[in-house]
Amino acid sequence: MHQLTDNNPRLTRSKGVKLIKEAPLGQLMRRAHGVRMQRHPGARVTYVCDTNPNYTNICATRCHFCAFWRAEESSDAYTLTPTQIAEQIYRSADAGATTVLMQGGHNPKLKLKEWLAYIQTIQMVVPNIHIHPFGPPEIAFMAENEATSTEAILQQLWDAGIRTMPGGGAEVLTDRVRNAIAPNKCSAQHWLEIMSQAHKIGFKTTATLMYGHIETPEEIIDHLLALRDLQDQTGGFQSFIPWSFKPGKTPLGRKIEQTASPQMYLRIISMARLMLDNFPHIQSSWFSEERQAGQLGLLAGADDFGGLLIEENVLETAGHSPTISIQDLEQDIRAMGFEPARRDSYYRCIN
Ligand code: SF4
Repeated sequence: MHQLTDNNPRLTRSKGVKLIKEAPLGQLMRRAHGVRMQRHPGARVTYVCDTNPNYTNICATRCHFCAFWRAEESSDAYTLTPTQIAEQIYRSADAGATTVLMQGGHNPKLKLKEWLAYIQTIQMVVPNIHIHPFGPPEIAFMAENEATSTEAILQQLWDAGIRTMPGGGAEVLTDRVRNAIAPNKCSAQHWLEIMSQAHKIGFKTTATLMYGHIETPEEIIDHLLALRDLQDQTGGFQSFIPWSFKPGKTPLGRKIEQTASPQMYLRIISMARLMLDNFPHIQSSWFSEERQAGQLGLLAGADDFGGLLIEENVLETAGHSPTISIQDLEQDIRAMGFEPARRDSYYRCIN
């Protein structure tokens, strides 16, 4: 938890807004990198060998920024069986994956017993892989579908052996933005409540931000402040992971004149390190933006380089599908003067 001292004053909202809007990028990065080096002295930069399969693309939530979802009657709609998904993960584990980040559409035909069947089948077929499934929107959807509480869903997942969860579906945690780009998804308050419930049960989670559409700099700072406030109460967030909106083939993309620049990515990573003083890890990913922007993020406060992503379908459908080998990923880290280290989903080094 953060200790507020005279030597370590917290960034206020107004200071944060001023910095994200006006600070010269080089200065902002230097300051954030200084904080990162205090927090994580040494040259280590972590990454995880993960895979991100999707069990279904049928989704009732129909976010305007998403190119992945399909209606049930669509010719390319699919729902994989637990055995099919476990076989896919088995192949990824064979290729080196240690973690499976599992997410997919909000398919009304899937009941809790089917979601649990995915977990149980994976546990049986690939017992050594760490399952990192279902962000707050999936939890909210399951609770609604089962007419039960989100706590009850979270407790069942805990009882099934799940210990970490992704922080997806945060987008921007203000209701103005959410109502415009994902009106059927859980509200900002609900997303935070589900995270709070998860942390209280004992889950460790990440937190995300998807920017570069209709949000203002003020709303980005409000997003960071909401995360910081919750982290003060629970301490359950392990890392912060931003990425920019990928407009390809999305309804929202047709309305956006300009996509976010790599410079904005670096500003956000820097601001995250400066504002999220109670978050241990900040991620800059080779995957989310251009590879060079991901590398530069390592000089903007990030200490983690994300996942290898052996399989990824959501951004692929929006036309974003870069791939990388472990050797190239490690080389990208070394090229910035750091030492790569493989980690697990608790951010513990495993090599
Ligand atoms: S982002 Fe997720 S919840 Fe939204 S439409 Fe796409 S699959 Fe569904």
